[in-house]
Amino acid sequence: MKQLQWKQLAGQERIKEVLASAFVKEKLGHAYLFCGETGTGTFAAALDLAMALLCRSEEAQPCGVCDGCRKVLGFSHPDFHVVMPLSLQKEHKGSDGRITEEGWNEFGERVKERIADPYLLPEFTTLPTIPVDWIREVTHAIRRGTVEKGKNIVLIDRVESMHKESANAMLKTLEEPPEDTLLILCTERVHAVLPTIVSRCQLLRFGVLPPETVKAELITRYGVAEDDSRLAGVTHCGSIGGAWRELRKAQSDDDRYAAGFWSSLSAGDMQAVFAKIDEISAMGDFETYESLFIRLMQGIRNSFLGMVPSSGKYISGDGLPENALSGISSPRPVEELVRNCETAIGQIRARANISLILINFANNIMEILHGKKQ
Ligand SMILES: [Zn+2]
Repeated sequence: MKQLQWKQLAGQERIKEVLASAFVKEKLGHAYLFCGETGTGTFAAALDLAMALLCRSEEAQPCGVCDGCRKVLGFSHPDFHVVMPLSLQKEHKGSDGRITEEGWNEFGERVKERIADPYLLPEFTTLPTIPVDWIREVTHAIRRGTVEKGKNIVLIDRVESMHKESANAMLKTLEEPPEDTLLILCTERVHAVLPTIVSRCQLLRFGVLPPETVKAELITRYGVAEDDSRLAGVTHCGSIGGAWRELRKAQSDDDRYAAGFWSSLSAGDMQAVFAKIDEISAMGDFETYESLFIRLMQGIRNSFLGMVPSSGKYISGDGLPENALSGISSPRPVEELVRNCETAIGQIRARANISLILINFANNIMEILHGKKQ
């Protein structure tokens, strides 16, 4: 029996109705333009629809477990094509301007990440583009026809970032798509998409989501605690991906303690350091102590990488505030700082006295940063 069941898409009831009805009646169009803010479900809906069409289950589709579904989820289905904008690096292009093998591998990895979490907002280190080679590869696959029985499905994310060259390579396919082809284009800004593309697609508008839908998804999808006090502040943006990004940015207690502790250490102000040690010790919570030191360690690494040009893609999360490592220009003291964090984490796990751990740590860090024993 044909029946569309949504695996990823949350909310967006009207969109679900329109697509499910067309799916059941086998009356889907050749090309759709899903228009809505990233993180509201455009990519999730496209993924569900693609998977449903390639699913082999006799029950409701997509089942999520059959060979067809698994190949879509693993981005290894020969008839499922995804194109999305990327930050192209030097090593992704050869001297002839064509995409290198390293480039294609990188694209594949990025697409897999996007599929693994269709709500996650992609982050770019440089202005992202859709390489024309990629569009050509896909149009070639469409003209060749399907490899397996079923449809050829092309999903293009953020189609507005296509250059004219890429758009032109795409247009011919849009004008006369082969019978067994479905194109799903996603965009945040429909006005930035070439009118010749828009006019050839059925436009579906994704609305912003109600806060309760965003909240429910943050809890089930990302494991955010139901009573997390930061939830109320982020769910009003109407986008699951947007709210999740805000939440990750919102400072937690251990972030604040880590930043405060580090400021006093880097300022070399021993009185402030002891005040912080008193404050932190008073919490009596080993989990927070541990995440404080993990946060410090990440911050030290990120701050150091931040000083190295073109290391952007290795940085996850933020560095520590206020030029945390000013005066340090070689990796060795940074390694020492990190080692001290690791030692402290080990001691916390062994439930040693937190005041002693902090005093010891502070002394060592002061010596590394300011070159003197306290
Ligand atoms: Zn399936």
